[in-house]
Amino acid sequence: NDNVIDIPSLQWYPGHMRKAERLVKENLKLVDVVVELLDARIPLSSANPVLREIVGGKPRLIVLNKADLADETATRTWVKYFAAQGITAVPVDAVKGHGVKELVQAIAKCAKPKTDKLVQHGAKARAARCMILGIPNVGKSSLINRLSGGTKTKVENRPGVTRAKQWIRLGAQLELLDMPGILWPKFEDQQAALHLAFTGAINDNVYDVASVVLLLLNTLREAYPADLAARYRMEGDLPSGTELLEEIGRRRGCLRAGGKIDYEKAEQIVLTDFRSGRLGRVTLDSLPDMSFDGDVR
Ligand code: GDP
Repeated sequence: NDNVIDIPSLQWYPGHMRKAERLVKENLKLVDVVVELLDARIPLSSANPVLREIVGGKPRLIVLNKADLADETATRTWVKYFAAQGITAVPVDAVKGHGVKELVQAIAKCAKPKTDKLVQHGAKARAARCMILGIPNVGKSSLINRLSGGTKTKVENRPGVTRAKQWIRLGAQLELLDMPGILWPKFEDQQAALHLAFTGAINDNVYDVASVVLLLLNTLREAYPADLAARYRMEGDLPSGTELLEEIGRRRGCLRAGGKIDYEKAEQIVLTDFRSGRLGRVTLDSLPDMSFDGDVR
């Protein structure tokens, strides 16, 4: 099968997973809302397969991060898709800060039933507390930096919270646990693993880059041919497979002595162009069947 590549889950062992899960569970008690970061280009592939179980009944909110790299129309559809399941999803660019204001408001709103209830039960009004979860490289640190505006206002130590843990105060409304919860991605799912490799969520040295780039080019040729043609100034019908890579290599001057194509260089150009958005705004995951009962994880 051409669409199968071997991506070993080198970074995650059962022991790692249990530890990650335990850390999230421990911190869960401290917060009112869990903010789950997904990559807007791959909202299904970048989701952790067991997060729902881990989080239980705790209010959850989704950030569609790297929205600047994703197809805007697709992102709007994904927002609606999550809304249909009762989950607020906010598109964000954590590097530039777009969508961050909306996110802060959405978190406060999501926590309100809880914070209101505390007040009803006679407690002093307090800020909403949240934590940020997501797979490696999805943008957790960038978002925490953005939210804190670079200057982290520390909150006093709290009973039951180890000294190493810090809270960042975001205005009067919100406090953020300054510790991203790292979750493992969906390695077992071939399609998801491939999309994780395309977007750079999996370290390039754990899979065969040549095969992954050919699959990426095929995907883009199918779904976004105009962007591909524009970037590499190609006209007419695009070649496919290795021929397409060779054409890109020629056009970008990836040549070895004797005029032979430098495949590795061409592959790197394609990966870098794609991941930086120079091949256009691309969403790779398509919506699961809407008639499905809504349980996507
Ligand atoms: P973490 O591992 O989840 O903490 O991810 P980081 O915050 O370290 O981000 C991983 C990479 O993605 C970095 O190169 C960031 O600059 C980049 N990144 C994070 N958020 C965004 C975003 O919204 N848009 C774009 N274009 N890049 C982002």
